[in-house]
Amino acid sequence: MSVLPLSVEKVIEEFGRLPGVGPKSAARMAYHFLRSSRKDASRLAKVLLEMEEKVVDCTMCFNVSDSEVCAICSSPLRDSSKICIVEDPLDVVAFENAGVFKGVYFVLGGLISPADGIGADELRFKELKARINAVLKDHEAIEIIIATNPNLEGEATSNYITDMISSMEVGEKVKVSRLAMGLPTGADLEYADQLTLKRSFEGRNIL
Ligand SMILES: [Zn+2]
Repeated sequence: MSVLPLSVEKVIEEFGRLPGVGPKSAARMAYHFLRSSRKDASRLAKVLLEMEEKVVDCTMCFNVSDSEVCAICSSPLRDSSKICIVEDPLDVVAFENAGVFKGVYFVLGGLISPADGIGADELRFKELKARINAVLKDHEAIEIIIATNPNLEGEATSNYITDMISSMEVGEKVKVSRLAMGLPTGADLEYADQLTLKRSFEGRNIL
């Protein structure tokens, strides 16, 4: 028999699913909403629903967007011949905050991780290939910057991308580079400070 009403248990369970939230924090969050005014819970519910309804994947880069093509892909100020490949939308935020890159992005949606059962089929490699081919129609030469995390999964993903590009037989037209490792191995790009990110970007290695 549970001591708490089922409706409270359910809220704790949902908060407990969030990344980095353990059972104790989940319970504290639920109590917070129990204690605070009804408006707080309604406001949270409303913004979450709104996000779910309004946010879509950009059809070009797969970053989160409130329109079919995101603000970066549709901007005339961005150089579409430079594509920075990242794991998730938060990496785009990190690079944009660092202000080092004026090209466009491609969000893979994860990294290859056999331990977690994530293979190449789970990620957007087909879409990436199509994107590269589409960009090659508009530009003589393009640069692909692989900006996956400096860990095992990031390496495996980077190798997969370089193999995929070699198999496309695009020759000299596609230059592939990888972020320089000013970043410590095992680091998460999302949490890297702006200077480290800037340095690793500027010192990227041609592959
Ligand atoms: Zn986009």
